[in-house]
Amino acid sequence: MRPLIAGNWKMHGLRAEGLALARAVAAGAGGVAAELLVCPPATLIAAVAEALAGTPVAVGGQDCHEREKGPHTGDVSAPMLADAGARYVILGHSERRAEHGETDAQVRAKAMAALAAGLTPIVCVGESEAQRLAGEAEPVVARQLAGSLPEDFAVQGGVVAYEPVWAIGTGRTPTETDIAAMHGAIRAQLTRGTGGPAGARVRILYGGSVKPGNAAAILSQPDVDGALVGGASLVAADFLAIAAAAGASPARR
Ligand code: PEP
Repeated sequence: MRPLIAGNWKMHGLRAEGLALARAVAAGAGGVAAELLVCPPATLIAAVAEALAGTPVAVGGQDCHEREKGPHTGDVSAPMLADAGARYVILGHSERRAEHGETDAQVRAKAMAALAAGLTPIVCVGESEAQRLAGEAEPVVARQLAGSLPEDFAVQGGVVAYEPVWAIGTGRTPTETDIAAMHGAIRAQLTRGTGGPAGARVRILYGGSVKPGNAAAILSQPDVDGALVGGASLVAADFLAIAAAAGASPARR
């Protein structure tokens, strides 16, 4: 499975700096084995997609509405993202779940909209620190997956990102053993029942304080098929170093 290294720029970047960052990532992408993706703010998707045309770096959105169009002031639909040049969309990020009250059911509806528009959804799941300390991390993530993923998610090539909420932007990460255990549990859930063969092909990204210094160790864990990178994706050299670490990982499935 080819690893996917995705950069979530969040609410960062005016036009000049966003374009400079995208071009710097593209300039260093040659020879990187991993697939590269940048997810700029919605205002920059079209310009970044244009700047990256003909390069191996794909563009994605950070959210989409569950409807194709309509009276939803301020929202962006999946077909609009695709029209602007996006191929992926991050959904259910913990910041959206926390700041916009997004539920699993809404994330599921958005994932269906993304798939219908030809976008690859990257659905984020992850436990809070209190839930991990209470020993509830795996059941919490299992419930989020069950509620957030549409039925045909695996068959249609959807991506899952495991992002423990307490690791995002904090510089803290779970132990490698804990990452491997969670990714194994997610894989088991994806391959249960009739989803089997397609579930085995779903890329499961790890996200939460991935940096050049810890990327190789995290990305070499079983069932870690890439990374969703926040802060470090705003520095082209750091993002590319993480991508290089993915390419250098031992034999993958
Ligand atoms: C994220 O927000 O998706 C993320 C992983 O952020 P960071 O890498 O900054 O922890």
